[in-house]
Amino acid sequence: MSILNILQHPDDRLHISAKPIKELDAVTHQLVKDMAETMYSASGIGLAATQVNVPKRVIVIDISEARDDLLVLINPEIQSREGTVVFEEGCLSVPGVYDRVERSEQIMVQALSAEGDEFKLEATGLLSVCIQHEIDHLDGKVFVEYLSRLKQDRIIKKLKKNQKGLDQQGSS
Ligand code: ZN
Repeated sequence: MSILNILQHPDDRLHISAKPIKELDAVTHQLVKDMAETMYSASGIGLAATQVNVPKRVIVIDISEARDDLLVLINPEIQSREGTVVFEEGCLSVPGVYDRVERSEQIMVQALSAEGDEFKLEATGLLSVCIQHEIDHLDGKVFVEYLSRLKQDRIIKKLKKNQKGLDQQGSS
């Protein structure tokens, strides 16, 4: 297993629309394992393959306190939505930025498990929000794109400044 590099916003590769997995082969199994390890190591609750520069429709999620309840969604599709809810969201690709986003409160999602079994899941609350956030990544969308243009510009400025600071630290 290995920890993968997480793309940081703004990055054009975060806007690539991911392709469905056609065959659950050894490469996909390895990707799922590496993504889970990367998510746990970054203390995230979700990670989409797009974020590790693999444009395939694979998501890993773990919203459990104990960090021992891994959910793998391959080729996920939201089949129905109900209600609205607002959560303060963050993202491993947008470090240090948290903001409120409105999403569906309850969703029914269909996906393949890591073993290739089709399953349906009814999700509410944080899990529902997390799945929608990660599916957005697969569609090339980062959560900050729901915010006002002004906020988005501020966030990009802040991230670029942080990035520059890190580069300078690294080179000194
Ligand atoms: Zn994210």
